[in-house]
Amino acid sequence: MRKIIVAVDGYAATGKTTTARGVAETLGYLYLDTGAMYRALAWYLHQQSFTEAEIERLKPDVLEKFALHMEPEGCELVAWVGERRLSEELRLPEIARLASVISTLPWVRAYMVQEQQRLGQKGGMVVVGRDIGTVVFPEAPLKVFFIASLEVRVERRYQELRQKGLPADREAIRQALLERDYRDETRPISPLRPAPDARLLDTTCLTIPQQIERVLSWVKPLITVPAISFPYSP
Ligand code: C5P
Repeated sequence: MRKIIVAVDGYAATGKTTTARGVAETLGYLYLDTGAMYRALAWYLHQQSFTEAEIERLKPDVLEKFALHMEPEGCELVAWVGERRLSEELRLPEIARLASVISTLPWVRAYMVQEQQRLGQKGGMVVVGRDIGTVVFPEAPLKVFFIASLEVRVERRYQELRQKGLPADREAIRQALLERDYRDETRPISPLRPAPDARLLDTTCLTIPQQIERVLSWVKPLITVPAISFPYSP
């Protein structure tokens, strides 16, 4: 079996992350959520009381002290900053918003892309983000781009926050998603868009198991080494 990179991109709250984790589990691959890396930097800056308004002040030397490392836990790579393992704190709306603001900076992207390419160099990884098929792994044999209607995305994010016991308001979620879509799509560097050879996956009417099944049906022909038929003639 070939160990490939599966590049998963798309809009927030379209089911990319959950689907990618399920695909990685089934294939015995590692799963890398690159959004968590941008969110980890946002969390680190937030801890230092850095605000969005101060973005002009942010300089690349901040990365020298930002000790990000992605540690495998099962099939997942979990973000650590120094001694701190990060999970739920990364899901807070203010961290998502700050992540999307700092991700417009070219030196932040250059740092993250280099790190992601290093982590995926051996293949056998499902990598999720916004620029995986276009910039990080443009040679990936399978690229999937997730879309879904805004209504469904709002509802999914609302239910996700409620389940975690976090405050949730549908109108605020809608505004935050629209704002983030706009920023991700219009930034000059690595804007969110499908790679020319990406397969579109509209998850509006699909369940998570159906999404996993669809992606697996695309992966399988790419990883199966064709059987040699006998008599063998090269
Ligand atoms: O995917 P997630 O919602 O966790 O990403 C948070 C933010 O990080 C996105 O809105 C986007 O601005 C940024 N991001 C990015 N490139 C990636 C992953 C995330 O710009 N590969």
